[in-house]
Parts: sequence; structure tokens; C-alpha cells
Amino acid sequence: MHSKLIMTLAACALLIPTVSCAEEVEVPRADVVNVRGPISMIQAGGGNIGVFSGEDGVFMIDSSYEKNSAAVKAALKSIHDGPVKILMNTHWHQDHTGGNAHINEMGAKLIAHKNVKKRLETGQRIEAFDRLIEPAEEAALPEETYLEANEIILNGQTVKIIPAPYAHTDGDSYVYWPDLNVVQTGDLFFNGRWPFIDYSSGGDIYGVIAATDQILMLVDDETKIIPGHGPLASKADLEEYNQVLRNVADRVSTAKSKEQSLNEFMATSPLAEYEEEWGGGFLPTYKFIRIIWDGVTLDMSEEEDF
Ligand SMILES: [Zn+2]
Repeated sequence: MHSKLIMTLAACALLIPTVSCAEEVEVPRADVVNVRGPISMIQAGGGNIGVFSGEDGVFMIDSSYEKNSAAVKAALKSIHDGPVKILMNTHWHQDHTGGNAHINEMGAKLIAHKNVKKRLETGQRIEAFDRLIEPAEEAALPEETYLEANEIILNGQTVKIIPAPYAHTDGDSYVYWPDLNVVQTGDLFFNGRWPFIDYSSGGDIYGVIAATDQILMLVDDETKIIPGHGPLASKADLEEYNQVLRNVADRVSTAKSKEQSLNEFMATSPLAEYEEEWGGGFLPTYKFIRIIWDGVTLDMSEEEDF
């Protein structure tokens, strides 16, 4: 995995004599990718981080897992030495907010959709993974929240923050730099792998399709797209993802209208053609279908638009 540097301790043991030389440790590593001009992406093993820097300072989008904070800070410093002015979260999940308190300590103002704060504050159960997430500490909570789209002028550029809730969760936002022609989607877009859709946090596959429809209206062939997970993407990648999700939702819907069970549906290998490209992420195909199964509606044929 690109996110971890596996380091044998043969040499390290000289420095840390209490650790066995035979063991291996995972050292969090953060890779920096220049997106365009003043915008970079940090990949540290959690969700992708956006960094927009200039004379006013840094606008940072998402903060990865808490455990990656040192690597993320080092990567930030390698991009720009100025202060982080604002940290925005695209949604509440830990792989995007875990480092919030560390960035807050550096003096950044934390902002996010209102539902991000609500879910971080109270703690959550992620049903799909049967995982309980404890309430976040005060320093990790957004200080300013919003429900509507808003615009920031920073480093001589317009930054649009656009909520698209009830998609991956009930608190998603994406970021659009119109003049730099860059978009950061958060987990509305997993590039080249099945997306997690968190129904226990108000997510909905039709919301993800609608949000990516909306983003596709903003972008062109030159746009650089920072996805929530996966490599830097183009409009063609996002179009393909949007179309694959539509196809999957349609096939599940048809199966349900024939009263097939999830197991009967999967026994027909209904997504075999997508397996190689999309099934290699953290969600295997079966798990992805199981997550969305209950949320797919029976008959889409009457609906013009979803
Ligand atoms: Zn997420």
C-alpha cells in the first residue's frame, strides 16, 4: 500500500534497542501530489487531503486518521510553511477528521456542515462495520458550521464550499475552485473502487448519484478531481463511476422487483464485468451490494430523475 512504509527494524534496533530486530513496524507516510498550481493532495492512508496554499496561508480539506497526524504535518510543511488558516471536513468519518485536533492546535479554524459536528459530538455506530465511534474531543469539533453553500476568497482565489448531504453521509460537502478548475469531492467519489455508503449516518446511493451528477455539471475535460479515496481523477473517471453506480442500482432494483434475495442475486454474478476494476478496494463486491441492498428502491422506471 502506498500509505505505509514497511520498515524492518534491522537497522532501527540500533536506535531503539528495546524493540526486537525481527519485527516489522508500519511507519505512517504521507505522499504529496501536486494537483494544479497552489493546490496539492496529501495521501496518508486515510481519506485524501486537499491543501490550497498561498500568501494568506493554507486552506486544508480533511485531516486523515489521528495516527497519521505527524506524517500529515510534515507533508504540509513541505508544501507551505505558512499557518493553516482553515480546516474544512467533507464529512465526519474518522479517516477524514481524525487529525482535526492536531490541526486545530496549529491555530486553524475548523469548519464543516452542521451534521458533521452533530455526529462527531455524539459519537456514532457505523452499522455496516458494526463499529462504535466514541464522541470526538472538543478540539476536534467544527467551530463554524453551515447548511448552505458558501464562498471564501483566499489567496486571491474563489473557493466554493457546496453541501451535498444525504449521499455518502448526511453531512457531505465538496469544494470547487472555479478559476483553478479543481474539485475535491470527499467520499462522494471513490476513484476506481466500490464506495462505502454510510446508511447509518444518513447516506443513500441515490444521493451519491445525484451529488456526482451535480459535480459533473461543473467540470470539463481539463478539471482535476481530488476523490475521497484513490488517485487524482478526471471528468471521465467521475462519469464512469456515476454510470457504474446507476447500473448497479438498476440491477439491484430489477432483482428486487423479481423478488430475488441478496444471495440469489449474487449467485448470478450480476456485476462480474466490474469485479476486476471496482472490487479490489477495501469493499469486496458482495459487501458493497449488501450495504446498498436495503436502500435500493423497487421500481425506478417511473422516476425521471433521482
Ligand atoms: Zn467516508
